[in-house]
Amino acid sequence: MKTNEFAELKGRVALITGGAGVLGCGMANVLAHYGAIVGIMDLTIEGAETAVDVIKKNGGEAFAVKANVLDKEELQEVRDFIIEKYGRLDILINAAGGNMPGATIGPDQAIYDMQLPHLQKVLDLNIIGTILPSQVFSEVFAKQKSGIVINISSASAQRPLSRVVGYSASKAAIDNFTKWLAVELAGKYGDGIRVNAIAPGFFIGEQNRVLLLNPDGTLTKRGEKIIDHTPMGRFGVPEDLDGALLFLCSNMSQFVTGTVLNIDGGFAATSI
Ligand code: NAD
Repeated sequence: MKTNEFAELKGRVALITGGAGVLGCGMANVLAHYGAIVGIMDLTIEGAETAVDVIKKNGGEAFAVKANVLDKEELQEVRDFIIEKYGRLDILINAAGGNMPGATIGPDQAIYDMQLPHLQKVLDLNIIGTILPSQVFSEVFAKQKSGIVINISSASAQRPLSRVVGYSASKAAIDNFTKWLAVELAGKYGDGIRVNAIAPGFFIGEQNRVLLLNPDGTLTKRGEKIIDHTPMGRFGVPEDLDGALLFLCSNMSQFVTGTVLNIDGGFAATSI
């Protein structure tokens, strides 16, 4: 057994979509800590730059880029920029995603109240917003015959959460796509390209804060239910993802592809 200080991450070029968000930013920081050069991609350059500043203050190397994960041309421009500047890309983390208020069925509503445009937006963001960047950036991996894709699934993929129909369906599709892409890339380009997913449980983020916490910081009814259903009895914090991320981005997982790793304090393991 070799010891591993993740030395192989030094100088690796990583790109994180939605990198200005709570979890994206956390993942960017841990990769930068171990020496990766991290690209923060988000909808606005200001958001991406703020995340880059944090990494640089901590002594890491990072750069900011702006692109919508649903816009192929913008993604291609980012890819060309990275190749021109760094000559390679090693890691893609598809972290842009989430639910949207209009796509949640209210407590007094039923499926018949669902508005198609909102549903469509959530499906697009989560599943197309994962497939499209994977298509654009893994073309580099195919040429290099090496690269790592990490998709971000959710606890709602395996057993759908009430009310969030589009989010749950699109995260389930991410699990499926993770397996599909793992087979596609390993089969055609060899064992240097691996595709896996992380399925976080419940972490307080901007999108779910009002669903889980009252303005005074106490738990909402839904927040209480979730904590009751989490054997470890707490929400996750971004650092809880560090170990899984380093494992999946490093040689420690060199024979691992097509898997989904739950990081959820036991949420998926319990029934009552
Ligand atoms: P977040 O809202 O903090 O971050 C999401 C980021 O994605 C934001 O910076 C946003 O600007 C960006 N983004 C949104 N649409 C985009 C687009 N079209 N193109 C490019 N960037 C876009 O959310 P988070 O909590 O950090 O979640 C990150 C990922 O983790 C999401 O896929 C989410 O579904 C997933 N997740 C979160 C939790 C949680 O509890 N927070 C749990 C499970 C899964």
